[in-house]
Amino acid sequence: MKILILNAGSSSLKYQLMDMDGEKILAKGIVDRIGIDGSAIKQTVGEQVYKLATPIPKHTDAIRLMLKALTDPQKGALKNLDEISAFGHRVLHGGEKFIDSILVTDEVKAAIRECFPLGPLHNPANLMGIEACQEAMPQTPNGAVFDTAFHHTMPKSAFMYGVPMEYYKRLHIRRYGFHGTSHRYVSKRVREFLGIPREGSRIITCHLGNGSSLAAVKDGKCIDTSMGLTPLEGVLMGTRSGNLDPAVVQYIANSDSMTVNEVLNICNKKSGLIGISGLSSDMRDIEAAANQGHEGAILAQDMLVHSIRKYIGAYAAVLGGVDVIVFTAGIGENNAAIRVSIMDGFEYLGAKVDPERNQTREEAVISADDSKVKICVIPTNEELLIARDTLAIIEGREITD
Ligand code: ADP
Repeated sequence: MKILILNAGSSSLKYQLMDMDGEKILAKGIVDRIGIDGSAIKQTVGEQVYKLATPIPKHTDAIRLMLKALTDPQKGALKNLDEISAFGHRVLHGGEKFIDSILVTDEVKAAIRECFPLGPLHNPANLMGIEACQEAMPQTPNGAVFDTAFHHTMPKSAFMYGVPMEYYKRLHIRRYGFHGTSHRYVSKRVREFLGIPREGSRIITCHLGNGSSLAAVKDGKCIDTSMGLTPLEGVLMGTRSGNLDPAVVQYIANSDSMTVNEVLNICNKKSGLIGISGLSSDMRDIEAAANQGHEGAILAQDMLVHSIRKYIGAYAAVLGGVDVIVFTAGIGENNAAIRVSIMDGFEYLGAKVDPERNQTREEAVISADDSKVKICVIPTNEELLIARDTLAIIEGREITD
């Protein structure tokens, strides 16, 4: 059975075709710059690379192009589109409605639309991706997997903000959390990897990429996470500020005659690593510059590490102790030096990195033998979870972890 997994952004469409018999990736691709000059598709099937630069005005065009590439006689992965049993879509915001992955119906689409104000950049694009698939292949079912869903188990004390209750009741203002599919995947995978039972487990998952978030996972359930109503809250990120006193927004807006939206745009797109270093949002550039003594890069790196350490300490408290700390995503999987800086001084918690084991980018325990807390690297695989959920949905099975 083959499932096509889609992650539709505002101007891009990433996809992966997976054969669920053996969970093998058959094709991977990206349609880039949808609706912008210079649009193109690139697909990889084994050694074969399919590339085409052509105008792609809308998401429906992107889907059509993707289906054409997948069935290309020389460089495709399918003889016939009927081989696709279902589409699995990543959807950013499920609000409070979606606590699980779900089969897309008209009601589900309406509810995704209701969440547009909560995910104004992503949800419309995600819905466009769903509708474009429905238009291209009306008989093929679509599954929706929400980035917020894993966090629905947070207690109210963790997800409420201390603003008047009416804003929760009227506007649904609360912490939702993001990267849920990744936190769910790595927290489950690390339990399998270490052979520890779900019940009684206390895990901190650190998804450190361009966008970063941490989650406290107890008995397999998320009980707190660092991102909030939007992905702006939490640790310092590539272009996002992370936590800041909301009065900063007011102060900048008043001082520089800017609107709240303009200041928030700065907080989302021009802050974090790039804002502090003035160099780059990419941790590789920051690390290289910091090693050359660039002051801004050194500070940006120190701030990133400091903010992550604070959450690890906080989540150890929230969990009542910690058994496992997991690193994942671009920085978490690939940057051994940052992992060491983050974990430095956590011996009092019983967590100690082994420098040699830490030289890995693959699934591994990187803690020392005498470390009470297991520290692990687990490469994330959100696509696999989306595919598994979609398969469960179309087979009418309960989604279990
Ligand atoms: P996104 O949040 O956009 O999915 P990623 O998870 O790919 O981002 O993370 C991007 C970050 O990961 C960048 O800061 C980059 O420096 C870092 N990164 C990605 N790949 C590597 C690598 N091979 N080596 C070191 N750092 C990497």
